[in-house]
Amino acid sequence: KARNPHQVEFQQAVKEVFASLIPVLEKHPEYMKQSILERIVEPERMISFRVPWLDDEGKIQVNRGYRVQFNSALGPYKGGIRFHPSVNESIIKFLGFEQIFKNALTGQPIGGAKGGADFDPKGKSDAEIMRFTQSFMTELSNYIGPDQDVPAGDIGVGAREIGYMFGQYKKMRGGYQAGVLTGKGVGYGGSLGRKEATGYGTAYFMDAMLKDNGLTIDGCTAIVSGSGNVSIYAMEKMTQLGAKVIACSDSNGYIYDEGGINLTTVKRLKEEGNCRISEYVNEHPQATFHEGCSGIWSLPCDIALPCATQNEIDNEAAKQLVANGVKAVGEGANMPSTLEAIEIFMSHQVLFAPAKAANAGGVAVSALEMAQNSARIAWSFEEVDGKLHQIMQNIYQASIQAAEEYGQPRNLVLGANISGFKKVAAAMISQGVI
Ligand code: NDP
Repeated sequence: KARNPHQVEFQQAVKEVFASLIPVLEKHPEYMKQSILERIVEPERMISFRVPWLDDEGKIQVNRGYRVQFNSALGPYKGGIRFHPSVNESIIKFLGFEQIFKNALTGQPIGGAKGGADFDPKGKSDAEIMRFTQSFMTELSNYIGPDQDVPAGDIGVGAREIGYMFGQYKKMRGGYQAGVLTGKGVGYGGSLGRKEATGYGTAYFMDAMLKDNGLTIDGCTAIVSGSGNVSIYAMEKMTQLGAKVIACSDSNGYIYDEGGINLTTVKRLKEEGNCRISEYVNEHPQATFHEGCSGIWSLPCDIALPCATQNEIDNEAAKQLVANGVKAVGEGANMPSTLEAIEIFMSHQVLFAPAKAANAGGVAVSALEMAQNSARIAWSFEEVDGKLHQIMQNIYQASIQAAEEYGQPRNLVLGANISGFKKVAAAMISQGVI
């Protein structure tokens, strides 16, 4: 705290991880002797840079860009890029810190990183987005590469922005290097199944957790917040697995459709149209739109999947969900539940799937994209999806086993943190004092 004053999101993420590690540190005194906690909490490198760009009026605008290269014990730095006005050093560091353990959980050879800018893509023209993104990559290209650091998308960064970044990287480095970014278009080196991976993975994890507890997704009512990349494909897979998704949202508010959300409409509005979710009710008059995001958690449901942003489920929202009989919560977004909310779920025996485990499918398929790029091959959708399903089941098993081994059976927060941490700590010890 003294070293990172005001970085509240970063402190929250560290607190959650370190609180789970107490039983590990008791069992493994070498971690303390090797100062693993002091080392792991300090990024290997934190880069902050100026991003100047010309708007459509010819005026020079300036944003701030970041890349935190947090830990490379297991492999090249890997983690998404976020464009959102709320981005600052604390947000980037919390995301980068979580990414270390998430990436370790996937079982793939990737280190932890995150980046972004306090740029607001809303209301910007396509030309402005391109000029901003090119300026961002002009600087970032000095620090990344297929074996060094491989960014991907996140909030505000989808296929379009990845395409512009990829083009600019090529220009800066004098040629095509497929493996420098993931989430690329399928036509120029991207992987089938990457777009769906985070959302599908969250649903696969939920499926594994429910089955292990004698329940199923089939027949459940679900709420999925957000209506971006993660949310849309979480809704799609949950529906395929038999759930009825009754509500989703964006930063203006949420829609409620008692008979089940029509995903074709949501995809058209959000993936093709750049529209607000409120417009859904124009085509589906039986549905209702409600301003404000937090109200979505007051709707009764069996399963809640927060898939929008950090701290979207607070104390109050968690209490409402519990009072309405929620059976399971799965975090599609990063750190969407406050520490108090997690406490409420755990103390009321709500099955809780933490982000590091539940949303690891996106980065897992990104690592599969890197593998395909290196081998100059392209797998089918079914092959990638099959591997994703297996990876999510493996993450569930590893987390549940670690929870059992360290004396808190079924506590997936503890299990996921411990399982990821042990892999990283072991690699750090092997590599000496670096
Ligand atoms: P998108 O930009 O595609 O979608 C984000 C969605 O969340 C939009 O509906 C957006 O609404 C809403 N949202 C964003 N910020 C806020 C806010 N402050 N309050 C309320 N709603 C908000 O992002 P993704 O779907 O990619 O990311 C969603 C979450 O999942 C993030 O936490 C991200 O870190 C995490 N994640 C993403 C992965 C990926 O592969 N994309 C991988 C792992 C985690 P609006 O359009 O109005 O802004």
